[in-house]
Amino acid sequence: MLTPRARVISCPNCGGPIDPGADAVRVTCEHCHRVIDITPEGVATMANALVKAGVAIPKHAMSVDDIHAEIAERDAVKRERTKTALLVALVVGLMVAGLVALAIAFG
Ligand SMILES: [Zn+2]
Repeated sequence: MLTPRARVISCPNCGGPIDPGADAVRVTCEHCHRVIDITPEGVATMANALVKAGVAIPKHAMSVDDIHAEIAERDAVKRERTKTALLVALVVGLMVAGLVALAIAFG
């Protein structure tokens, strides 16, 4: 666990001071409005998000955008699986209902 602390960094674009706060992953420079990804604490925050999303922490460097894309991709796969499972349950349910109806009609 990282200890939250104040971090004042310099904008890589204009050199202006930026205070991203303890948990920010991405900030916009107040001086030149450039969007800046914060590391390594921001990466650690994203790594925690990855673990929560069930994504292995990559060994190669990933940008915050890569990580967001990865999480979105996993979420889409999860949604698709849930949809398939619901469809299978519906079909099985209809088959069982049909068999019960037949049993009642001809039993
Ligand atoms: Zn700047």
